Amino acid sequence: MNLKSYLDHHIFKTISKVADEKGLETYVIGGYVRDLILHRASKDIDVVTVGSGIELAKEVAKQYGPRVKVSVFKNFGTAMIKINDCEVEFVGARKESYQRTSRKPIVENGTLEDDQKRRDFTINALALSLNKDSFGDLVDPFGGMKDMEDLRIITPLEPGITFSDDPLRMMRAIRFATQLNFDIEENTLKAITDNASRIEIVSGERIIDEVNKIMLTSKPSIGFKLLESTGLLAIIFPELQAMKGREVRNGIGHKDNFYHTLAVLDNICEHTDNLWLRWSALLHDIGKPKTKRFHPKFGWTFHAHNHIGSKMIPNIFKKMRLPLNDKMKYVEKLVFLHMRPIILSEDIVTDSAVRRLLFDASDDIDDLMTLCEADITSKNPEKVKKYLKNFKIVREKLNELEERDAIRNFQPPVSGELIMECFQLKPSREIGTIKMAIKDAILDGEIRNDFDEAFEFMKNKGIELGLTYHEPKERKN
Ligand code: ATP
Repeated sequence: MNLKSYLDHHIFKTISKVADEKGLETYVIGGYVRDLILHRASKDIDVVTVGSGIELAKEVAKQYGPRVKVSVFKNFGTAMIKINDCEVEFVGARKESYQRTSRKPIVENGTLEDDQKRRDFTINALALSLNKDSFGDLVDPFGGMKDMEDLRIITPLEPGITFSDDPLRMMRAIRFATQLNFDIEENTLKAITDNASRIEIVSGERIIDEVNKIMLTSKPSIGFKLLESTGLLAIIFPELQAMKGREVRNGIGHKDNFYHTLAVLDNICEHTDNLWLRWSALLHDIGKPKTKRFHPKFGWTFHAHNHIGSKMIPNIFKKMRLPLNDKMKYVEKLVFLHMRPIILSEDIVTDSAVRRLLFDASDDIDDLMTLCEADITSKNPEKVKKYLKNFKIVREKLNELEERDAIRNFQPPVSGELIMECFQLKPSREIGTIKMAIKDAILDGEIRNDFDEAFEFMKNKGIELGLTYHEPKERKN
């Protein structure tokens, strides 16, 4: 099969010319070829040559003049050039063999066939020739093209060996199945289950890379169900595994929180590409297993699971090599607050409750509402209608109050210094009490978020506390 028409990027013509001049058998290979055929956008081009990849890269870069630089990674025997937004990596064809204790292979020079054999899946082993006489010829020794038609992930060699050699490939198989919506072939899937414990030799950074790629697909539940059924989830993410299962006591059951969580995650993916909002959806009920109780009268309860759940986040982020910065704080906050709009929407929606929600969530309020809407997974259409209607009221009230009271980025309208001046106080507890009372009065709608109203309120509050009021030099913060 010839796929010349796919190779219309000028870089391929340039590589072809240089490879022929140097007498180097050269191919574009791997994920880039797979994505070309599947019509998926891809900017990482891998080029393999039977010879020195570094020399080829240097010669190709020369053709573009001094503006194109070569980055050489001597240890890996690779070189990279950047052309506009494309990264082209050059490597010499290699043969790999593995030892049991490491996923780093012993590498020797090899043929194209050797190089294709070291690839993880048949769909990732396709090569297109770049030499002039065979330009665009497909080299597909393992039937990757057919597997692409059949939507199948399968290893080129014995899957048990493939996964045992480099257990990261198990994560990659599941990630590709999720990204491409392909099935993992039966024996390949079984080999993942058999080798699941080998994942222990893979670094946390590599694992989380794959998990995040799964998180960024349009339907991450596919990946998490596969991680669970193969036994990988229990090793890499035991807190999520613990959510699985449905217990029944006295004829009363609770929903399976693992599947519910995945439904929420898929729901939210329809509304946001924000990875951290997606993580918030995945973790919103993570505190449920720890807080689960059975009460003979009330049935199953998960009291304060939002609180316990948000307290679990730093540990989970640390263990899973997720960032320990504002992203983590954001997830903690959303997990903590995720019940608030629901409780609100179940009751009469008061201005005061909405103002307090807006105060606590501040700039993340829209994301919190998106999370709560995604959290509606009831099969009962009447219930869904009711919740969505109430959330709509909450959103309308939020907009209305936000315009009127500017609560989102609340700044105390009367400063601590001014309170000290008015009551001749040194830094003390009373100042906090007065400040808190002003905030509460605003949130409860007793006064508006406005300096004059807050000043009058402060004056009365201080007097009520037995303090003596002194007119300040200026009624101004
Ligand atoms: P993506 O760019 O979406 O991560 P990709 O398949 O292009 O997908 P890369 O990590 O860029 O992934 O790898 C490029 C190619 O290198 C793959 O298509 C595959 O042929 C090969 N490869 C990468 N990692 C492995 C691995 N762990 N084992 C075997 N082959 C691999």
